[in-house]
Amino acid sequence: MKDLLTTDFRNAPYWWDAAPLTETASGALAPSYDAVIVGSGYTGLRAALTLARAGRSVAVFDKERPGSGASRRNAGFLGRTLKKSYVDLKAAKGAAHASAIYRDLMMAYDSTLAFIEEEGIDCHAVRCGCLIAATSAAHYAVLERELSGMKADLGLPYSMVPRARLREEMASDLYDGGAVIPDLGSLHPGLYHRGLMTRALAAGVALFGRCEVTRIERVEVEPAASQGDRFRVSTAGGQTRARDVVVATNGYTPKSLPWHARRVIPFVGYMAATEKLPPALLATLLPHRRTVIDSNLDIDFFRPAPDSPRLLFGGATANGLQDPAAIATLLHGRLRRALPDLADAKLGHVWTGQCAGTFDMMPHIGCHDGIWYGMGYNFAGVPMGSFFGLKIAQKILGLPAGASAFEAAAFPTLPLYRGNPWFLPLAMRWFAWKDAKLARSR
Ligand SMILES: Cc1cc2nc3c(=O)[nH]c(=O)nc-3n(C[C@H](O)[C@H](O)[C@H](O)COP(=O)(O)OP(=O)(O)OC[C@H]3O[C@@H](n4cnc5c(N)ncnc54)[C@H](O)[C@@H]3O)c2cc1C
Repeated sequence: MKDLLTTDFRNAPYWWDAAPLTETASGALAPSYDAVIVGSGYTGLRAALTLARAGRSVAVFDKERPGSGASRRNAGFLGRTLKKSYVDLKAAKGAAHASAIYRDLMMAYDSTLAFIEEEGIDCHAVRCGCLIAATSAAHYAVLERELSGMKADLGLPYSMVPRARLREEMASDLYDGGAVIPDLGSLHPGLYHRGLMTRALAAGVALFGRCEVTRIERVEVEPAASQGDRFRVSTAGGQTRARDVVVATNGYTPKSLPWHARRVIPFVGYMAATEKLPPALLATLLPHRRTVIDSNLDIDFFRPAPDSPRLLFGGATANGLQDPAAIATLLHGRLRRALPDLADAKLGHVWTGQCAGTFDMMPHIGCHDGIWYGMGYNFAGVPMGSFFGLKIAQKILGLPAGASAFEAAAFPTLPLYRGNPWFLPLAMRWFAWKDAKLARSR
C-alpha cells in the first residue's frame, strides 16, 4: 500500500496547492445587512458579488474556511448536461420543458465562461472538449441516441468515436468507444473560487469564515423599527438581521435547515491526483487533453491537471470509505483498469467532497418561506452553482433576468426523509445493476 503514495502525499485536494484555503473574517458583525448568505461556494459568492455590485450590503457566512466545500474540491469539468438525460426528460415532461431546461443549462455554461473571461479570472478555463467513454456496446448506442436527439433539437455538436478509434482519444482498451463533445470545458476549481472570492471582497462583501449560521428566524417587529429586515440570523459570531437570506449549502446543508435538508441527498465524491508524470506519457494518455467521463450512472472520470503534468481522476462515488489509504487503493484500482500505462504511477493527493443529489435528479432554485436557495446540483455545480447564484441575486434585485426554467419545479422530498441518506448504498447498487443490465442488453 505504501508504494501507492508519494513521499509528500497529501490527504487534501490537489487544487489547494495553488489555491490554499485562507482564514477570512471581515471585522465585526454589523447589526444588519441587506442580504445574508449561508455558504461561501460558487453559489453563495456569485450571489454575493452580484448583490454587492448592485449596492446591497452583503454578509457571507461559512462554518469552515471559505471555499472548503465542494467548490475547491471538484473535478473542474464544465458541462451543460444533467444526470437526468435530455431524452428521458423530454419523454417524461415534453419537448418544450426539456428544451427550456437544456437551454438554461447552455446559458449556465456560456455565462460561466463569459463571466470568467470578463472578470479576467486566471483559472485555466478552456473549451477542451469532453470524451464520454462508453462502458459497453449498449451504452454506446444509448449515448448516440441521446446525443443525436440533442443535436436535432438543440443543435449541440458531437462526434462518435468507435472502439477501433478510441486510442486516438485515450490510451485505454476498457471502453466500447465513446463520443466527443468538442466544445465542453474545464477549469481549475480552486483558482476559479479564489478569483470569485477576491472579487466579492473587493466589491465590499463581508465574509465570515469559521462562523456557522445556526438559526434563521422571521422577525416580528414594528416595520418602522425593522428597517425592512425580515430575518434574524444567529451565527457562531453573534446575531445579525437581514432583509434577504440565501441558503447556498448544497451537499453540506445542515439539519438546522430542515426544509432544505429534507430535499437534498448528500453524498461523498472521491478524487485523486497522480504524482508528476513524464509529459510524453501524459500526452499519450489523453492526447487532446480533454476531460473524460464514462457513460455509467456511477461514473469514473479523468482529466489532465491544467497546471502540472499529472492526471486527476475520481469515481467510486458514495462508497462509504473514509480512510485515505483505503480510498487510494480503491481509486488506484479504477485508474489501472482504465489506463494500464499508469499501473505504477503513485498518488500525490487523495481527497473527498460532499455533493448533493435530489429525488428528481434535477438542480433546484427558488424561495421557500421568504428564504432563497439554489442547490441539488447532482455533480453539475460548477456552471449551475455559478448560474443559480447569479439568478438568485437578480431575483432579489427584482430583475426579470432572474427568471429560470428551473424555478417552476416543486422541490421533492420523501415521507420520513430528514436528510440522513441511509438508502445511498442501495441506490448505488441499483445504479450498478442498471448499468450492468444495459450492458448485457446487446
Ligand atoms: C469530488 C467532487 C467532484 C465534482 N466534480 C464536479 C465537476 O467536475 N463539475 C461540476 O460541475 N461539479 C462537480 N462537483 C460538484 C460541485 O463541486 C458542487 O456542485 C458545487 O461546488 C456546489 O457549490 P455550492 O456553492 O453550492 O456549495 P459548496 O461549494 O459545497 O459550499 C457550501 C458551503 O456551505 C457551508 N455551510 C454549510 N452549512 C453551513 C452553515 N450552517 N453555516 C455556514 N456555512 C455553512 C459549507 O461549509 C460549504 O463551504 C463535484 C463535487 C465533488 C465533491
